[in-house]
Amino acid sequence: MLLRHTTAKETARQALTINPAKTCQPVGAMYAALGIHGCLPHSHGSQGCCSYHRSALTRHFKEPVMASTSSFSEGSSVFGGSSNLVTAIDTIFTVYEPDVIAVHTTCLSETIGDDLTQIVSKAREDGKIPEGKTVIYCNTPSYVGTHITGYANQLSSFIKFFSTATLKKKNVVNLVAGWMEPSDMREIKRIASVMEARTILFPDMSGVLDAPLTGKYKMYPDGGTTIQEMIATGDSRFTIGLGAYTTEDACVKLENKCKIKFEVVEIPIGLKATDRFVTSLSRHANVPVPDELTEERGRLIDLIADNAKYLYGKRVALFGDPDTLIPLTEFLLTLDMKPVYIVTGTPGKHFDESMKEMLGKAVPEAKFHSGERADMFQLHQWIKQEPVDLLIGNSYGKYIARDEQIPFVRMGFPIVDRPGHNFFPSVGYTGATNIVIKILDAFLDHYDRNCPEEKMEFQM
Ligand code: SF4
Repeated sequence: MLLRHTTAKETARQALTINPAKTCQPVGAMYAALGIHGCLPHSHGSQGCCSYHRSALTRHFKEPVMASTSSFSEGSSVFGGSSNLVTAIDTIFTVYEPDVIAVHTTCLSETIGDDLTQIVSKAREDGKIPEGKTVIYCNTPSYVGTHITGYANQLSSFIKFFSTATLKKKNVVNLVAGWMEPSDMREIKRIASVMEARTILFPDMSGVLDAPLTGKYKMYPDGGTTIQEMIATGDSRFTIGLGAYTTEDACVKLENKCKIKFEVVEIPIGLKATDRFVTSLSRHANVPVPDELTEERGRLIDLIADNAKYLYGKRVALFGDPDTLIPLTEFLLTLDMKPVYIVTGTPGKHFDESMKEMLGKAVPEAKFHSGERADMFQLHQWIKQEPVDLLIGNSYGKYIARDEQIPFVRMGFPIVDRPGHNFFPSVGYTGATNIVIKILDAFLDHYDRNCPEEKMEFQM
């Protein structure tokens, strides 16, 4: 029993979170920055924060994650980190030669009250930012919000510093990627490509955090949205945001700055969310839905129909990020499963409202919780009160799965104990197919291992 102190009985807690379903803001800001080609994320704070954020990403993506830090000492903690950042900008451009430095704050620099606008202006006045190079920045105080908030804040900074309208609108649709895997971004681009839609995807971590091993080290891998593309987002006809929590703010800022209308849809996880994304892209890029996608959709439905007997009525607990959990819950309902417990550490009304709407009639016994007090301890308590057939979430779920002997499907961030998430997308019809196969594998493996011998079947 790894989590032997978890009790089925819940006690009211006001100031204690145990095993939170989230991580800190700068992790998200750092991840988003890596989706711009030639960009070096910079952590304005102590070395410890930067090390933690880098290692959180490295452990998940199994790739070296480059980032620099202002390396606060006791002195900068008291008097402010202005001179550290100006020196860092100078050193970074001289030694590491990125095209862009994306600065984000940490708890420490936010508490001191460092003013990034003023510090970066000073670096520019002092001639520390070479011609043609850019320094962007965003505030990511980690005592509010989560890695999702940090990711969203970084996306908004891209709009603020790059997107430029030239009054010559192009027949291009901006696709703002919410927090998803590089494999998902690759799949989004493939869908857009088979639809022959002209799009700019940003940020784009494919080719950055899933770059091939070539024997040649590149500090700035070939992937990522280029600066020219980022600037050109200001001339696109329309913007589609994928995931309200991560992209809505960037979409609003782009509309305000460059007068580009937008629509925010869910990250296309599952059948219905993918339908909505494909429909939106088809309408706004003015392209038809090709047979190739219709056939993929048909194959997914065939898979679901063939295996309905294994899925029907199964109780599922899931935890993770709201932009993933909302369409995933919808997809589980499509599969005739019962999402009964859903937890996210990211605060926000949209999650609660979506869950109420989806589960109110379909699964009236469902419990869900969001925000800083929503944790995996409570999720485990709910499971102890009434068990589930399946757990879906990141690697931290393995302890609950082991203690309660529940089939477990890994999905979300971080996944540090299995490969695969970097290769198999969860978005689109192909991604939905991958999810169904993962769920079936987990159920059937569990059955094969635990069923009485006389019930063991060769063919299932
Ligand atoms: S929570 Fe704050 S202090 Fe801790 S690692 Fe994140 S930014 Fe640094």
